[in-house]
Amino acid sequence: MRITPELVDDLAELSRLHDASRRDPRDPEIQIHYQDLRHRVPRELVNAFDVRRRAGQRAFAPLTGGVCGACFVAQPISRQFGLSEGERLVTCHACGVVFFDPLLTEDNTIPTR
Ligand SMILES: [Zn+2]
Repeated sequence: MRITPELVDDLAELSRLHDASRRDPRDPEIQIHYQDLRHRVPRELVNAFDVRRRAGQRAFAPLTGGVCGACFVAQPISRQFGLSEGERLVTCHACGVVFFDPLLTEDNTIPTR
């Protein structure tokens, strides 16, 4: 699955709204935006997000220069190729975070949690 710049923005927003909805569970505006976004983002990514967040882990990180942006472990070359091919979700072999290409985003700062 290719994670486009628009999708990177959506994933960052998903993280923000997830946290906001936890802080204000009865704020209807936050809940509506959060649910809308969850329907717009591909299911595969929402599922990965939910699993990672439930475990208290960061969901998405850039793969920069062959190194995981979350745990900083160097990745096998096959994962780097996998990301550039964009055919499937590519995850860190050490921490399991889902990678995106940092070249697709100006500030590759998807919130840590
Ligand atoms: Zn990692």
